[in-house]
Amino acid sequence: MHYITYNTATLLNNTIMQCIVDLNKVTTRYPVRLSGYYAALIRSPGDAIWKQCMPDTRELEDHFQCPDPLDEKNLSPVPGLIHRYPDRVVLLVSNRCPVYCRFCMRKRLVGKADLPMGEDTLRNALQYIASHPSIHDVILSGGDPLMLDDASLSKILTGLRAISHVAIIRIGTRIPVTLPERITADLCNLLKTFHPLYINTHFNHPDEITVDSSAACAMLADAGIPLGNQTVLLKGVNDSVDTMRSLMTGLLALRVKPYYLHQMDLVQGTAHFRTSVHAGLEIIRGLRGHISGLAVPHYVIDLPGGKGKVAVLPDDVEIDGTTLHLRTYTGERLTYQDVTTPQE
Ligand SMILES: *Cc1c(COP(=O)(O)O)cnc(C)c1O
Ligand code: SF4
Repeated sequence: MHYITYNTATLLNNTIMQCIVDLNKVTTRYPVRLSGYYAALIRSPGDAIWKQCMPDTRELEDHFQCPDPLDEKNLSPVPGLIHRYPDRVVLLVSNRCPVYCRFCMRKRLVGKADLPMGEDTLRNALQYIASHPSIHDVILSGGDPLMLDDASLSKILTGLRAISHVAIIRIGTRIPVTLPERITADLCNLLKTFHPLYINTHFNHPDEITVDSSAACAMLADAGIPLGNQTVLLKGVNDSVDTMRSLMTGLLALRVKPYYLHQMDLVQGTAHFRTSVHAGLEIIRGLRGHISGLAVPHYVIDLPGGKGKVAVLPDDVEIDGTTLHLRTYTGERLTYQDVTTPQE
């Protein structure tokens, strides 16, 4: 028989108290929020869902990284807008999300600041887009844009559609994963009046593919919305070939096309999630050729200083004049002659 002695109990109590004090420090800096739906996906403490949403004291131990490595603040010509590439902008329309992911690249903003966008901020941002005819693609982001109610969303989308040079509207949202009940028939009917409208969602693990999230994606796809997915490569969550294969093929079956696999940004408070780029490349190598090409995302590094995203690939080609030394998906090494007919 084992008895917990008074000393052990005190020690345990103190340890628990210390944990609570420590976690309070974390959550004061980086708020915690969890939808009932997402919390119910946790099967055991420390699993892939738990790690994504439960606070961890390591968030405060990360002193080397920067809160805004992508320099979004300096790329912001007016509040709430990020203009990095010539033809597309990101509009930050909400700073709330159903779940505050511990690895979030906008950790400095979510659950804080003064969003959702006020009337003036929105008017200024729309004005900026209207006065820049080179902008063809507007990406609603945040936070989660679908945290806005239908009326607010409709107002923003109507404002964008009134600008003739805005061809494409994209919404970046994790709501199908974290709060699928928000994808209602009304919302789908609203969104489909603003086509061409794309949605990029954000699944990170096969356990997030449930009856509910599948139904949410089906409703959006049935509304004619092309669906893409962005996954963040997370240590201890999805950094294995098996997990990624099952995630990417699972998404494809939901009519969601894997778009990007993101190398973790150098955002302060997220270092414990970061894998090496080498590990990411090995995962891509384990996907390419082994599963449907449609299910293979681009692996991208979003460079510090706002230099943009660069897609990186496993080193499978070496070019020597017109001779290419290639590596196949099974690891076989072959040469290929780059023969072209001379031009007349
Ligand atoms: C990622 C991103 C985009 C969109 O890039 P795509 O490669 O077209 O998906 C646009 N603006 C900013 C600031 C971004 O970070
Ligand atoms: S849903 Fe997206 S924006 Fe919101 S906390 Fe998660 S990663 Fe960040």
